[in-house]
Amino acid sequence: MRRISVFGATGSIGQSTLDLIGRAPDSYHVVALTGGRNIALLAEQARQHRPEIAVTADPDRLTDLRDALAGSGIEAAAGEGALIEAATRPADWVMSAIVGAAGLAPGLRALEQGATLALANKESMVAAGKLMLQKASKHGGRILPVDSEHSAVFQALIGENIASVERVIITASGGAFRDWPLEKLAAATPEQAATHPNWDMGQRITIDSASMFNKALELIETREFFGISPENIETVVHPESLIHALVGYNDGALMAHVGPPDMRHAIGFALHWPERRSLPVERLDLTAIGSLSFRVACDQRYPALRLAREVMREGGLSGAVFNAAKEQALDGFLARQIGFMDMAGIVEDVLSEISARPGHIHAEFTLDNVNRLDHLARDTARGAIKRLMDRKN
Ligand code: NDP
Repeated sequence: MRRISVFGATGSIGQSTLDLIGRAPDSYHVVALTGGRNIALLAEQARQHRPEIAVTADPDRLTDLRDALAGSGIEAAAGEGALIEAATRPADWVMSAIVGAAGLAPGLRALEQGATLALANKESMVAAGKLMLQKASKHGGRILPVDSEHSAVFQALIGENIASVERVIITASGGAFRDWPLEKLAAATPEQAATHPNWDMGQRITIDSASMFNKALELIETREFFGISPENIETVVHPESLIHALVGYNDGALMAHVGPPDMRHAIGFALHWPERRSLPVERLDLTAIGSLSFRVACDQRYPALRLAREVMREGGLSGAVFNAAKEQALDGFLARQIGFMDMAGIVEDVLSEISARPGHIHAEFTLDNVNRLDHLARDTARGAIKRLMDRKN
């Protein structure tokens, strides 16, 4: 039986992961399930999948979790320390599906145990890709991409020589506002941004898809994961979301990964790798689809893409700054303190403010420095948001 843990079990990726695991319960021993605020769902999942431990990230909800698991014999725990402890428990395969930078520490800890880490949490690769890869190689672990685009690149690279790769093209749906006139974007609300045309995902990544901060993270993730030079990573808007990525080789061939917009494909691929097994996803009918379309992803509509290229050029710890500033700007947008198009301006201000201070971005690549810059970027972003609000009032 494979030992499995799911971090972020109550989220969209976590639920899809448990859907696959639940179809073959005799094949898996569930070690840990973790969630945040959704205690009812975490307890329901725990009662179904019988983990050794269920952890909520929120210490104020521990009593609720204990009550909900009473009599089940399943251990309940809460808080950041408990998440780390759960990641220390031996597991063969660990799903990293916490949203945001909070996913970094448990992911690193799982890699230190030599686990295979199925990585949905792109933020940890953006903020600390170098550390993640170092941990995996030092402790005999492995990181498998779960982001659909990176799973697609991974699959298009199988059996190929990375030295023959000329370029990687990451596709983007264009998000909720891809057909909106530019001048309307400034007034877009969180509710409007949280409606995705093709994918059913968590609230934060859906809004990041509308702003293309999600794609910006993915461009950086591509650089970190596969070591592709920034100038060889492209993105195009592909409204149908059926081609997830393409790898271009030096003989002119483009290998495309085509599949339905269902995360259970990428999750299942990582779960069964290196084998391919049957998955409960739709089989595409190409004649019913008829045609596929592509558009330029322009920087004016999606300034996050330009910022991602700057971050890749700058290197060092700028990914940690970029991710933290983006998370804080998104909080500001969700709290209606700033507008949709203000988010990129805030992130740009934070990047230039911190880059201008010597010794920060190019400090040694350690977890302490990643965390220090994460905090600094959040503080700087809060200051920039406040200044913007003061100017508007
Ligand atoms: P969701 O918002 O649906 O779920 C997030 C999960 O993280 C939930 O279990 C949530 O708990 C938990 N969580 C939230 N905050 C914290 C915290 N501070 N500490 C610990 N746990 C926390 O997100 P998604 O499933 O959509 O995304 C998860 C990750 O996967 C993200 O990094 C995203 O970018 C990535 N991803 C998602 C895709 C998708 O299709 N959804 C596609 C590709 C990548 P609770 O809900 O109980 O509060």
